[in-house]
Amino acid sequence: MHEEVTALNPYHMAVQQFEAAAEKLHLSEDMREVLRQPKRELTVNFPVRLDSGRIKTFTGYRVQHNVNRGPAKGGIRYGPDVTLDEVKALAMWMTWKCAVVGIPFGGAKGGVICDPKQMSSAELERLTRRYTTEISIVIGPHSDIPAPDVNTNSQVMAWIMDTYSMHEGFSIPAVVTGKPLSIGGSEGRNDATATGVLFVTRQAAKRMGMPLKGARVSIQGNGNAGAIAARLFHNEGCKIVAVSDTRGGIYNESGLDPSAVLRHKQERGSVIDFPRAQRVRVQDVLEVPCDILIPAATEGVLTAANAGRVQARIVAEAANGPTTPEADKILFDKDTIVIPDILANAGGVTVSYFEWVQDLQSFFWGVDEITKKLEVIMNRAFSAVAEKADQYHCDMRLAANMQAISSVAEATQVRGIYP
Ligand code: NAD
Repeated sequence: MHEEVTALNPYHMAVQQFEAAAEKLHLSEDMREVLRQPKRELTVNFPVRLDSGRIKTFTGYRVQHNVNRGPAKGGIRYGPDVTLDEVKALAMWMTWKCAVVGIPFGGAKGGVICDPKQMSSAELERLTRRYTTEISIVIGPHSDIPAPDVNTNSQVMAWIMDTYSMHEGFSIPAVVTGKPLSIGGSEGRNDATATGVLFVTRQAAKRMGMPLKGARVSIQGNGNAGAIAARLFHNEGCKIVAVSDTRGGIYNESGLDPSAVLRHKQERGSVIDFPRAQRVRVQDVLEVPCDILIPAATEGVLTAANAGRVQARIVAEAANGPTTPEADKILFDKDTIVIPDILANAGGVTVSYFEWVQDLQSFFWGVDEITKKLEVIMNRAFSAVAEKADQYHCDMRLAANMQAISSVAEATQVRGIYP
């Protein structure tokens, strides 16, 4: 297996994908200029008291790409490698994602440069509360609604909700989604991203005549998206042949038991050294023999350097931006179906939308109703994108971007330019 590859600048990648769709749509240059750039980019530098008594200054971002179809919506990630360009790319992808599944939100994203694995829970709470305060000038239940992303979870969302509510003097659950159920979270939110990935993969497999039962699945990333996808695809009858986290990967051609792998990770901090599996590197799980590949970790992992070695027939992008434009071309040329991120992982934001609606009306739905509504939305979006891809003889990413960009352009056009 081969050396790791370095990722492209994700914002350049997002703009390149946008230009390809805009070109195909014959969008005017004036409209392209409006849609190409984020509406707002907020950078905040703020001090946090560490457990040692030291005060460390952190940098965070909140970017709103476009709000013509509704309030801005998008996750917050913590990590040492967070950059403004990454947040800008993720915000743009959120705009297209909400449009492709037809939910009334624009796109946003946030991030803080920090190493959450080296911080205590108390330090993370202080960092979250101060960051929330710093970005409270742009977030709100009717303006911009954050959610979890890499290295943030329902506890972090609870701290954001509490901080924002403390400033207002009463509880405002709809300011953030992905919250615990006890404070206005939604049934089904935790599994929503992976459930959506399963729904669209079922549709893709059906179109290819590939039975999901017995299909071999390899998954990069073992967090909210990846670990839950492993469980759901396993329950569907698939064979999970490989999984990985930041420290490495494991492979067993006869299949791994995802719940045993998760227990092992909880006890040892990583999937590596799982018994009865071959140790492989993080990048190798992208290339092992499998039918379905689910990148569920980070951007820019499938590139011109390794796409030719991908053996899967379906790539279902649970992660945002895992495939570079060059890799897209290589995969398309060898008839690999790539279900693009803005469609494949839209289950998360769709159930976030359900959570927001439930919070605003203070009336909550059961998990069966949520799953049914999610399935309708995901299947409808998949069919629309697949039809467009057939019509234009193009890959599903271009088709999904065309679908989304035309809908945002139409909203921009009909609203008109203020003043
Ligand atoms: P998470 O923090 O729960 O898990 C991330 C996983 O990826 C971890 O197992 C980590 O070890 C692994 N990882 C991180 N960086 C890596 C790297 N450089 N190489 C290999 N592995 C790495 O995060 P998550 O919420 O599961 O998000 C994963 C991806 O899914 C991200 O791209 C995120 O934007 C996307 N996504 C998540 C949601 C959601 O609801 N959580 C929704 C849509 C999209």
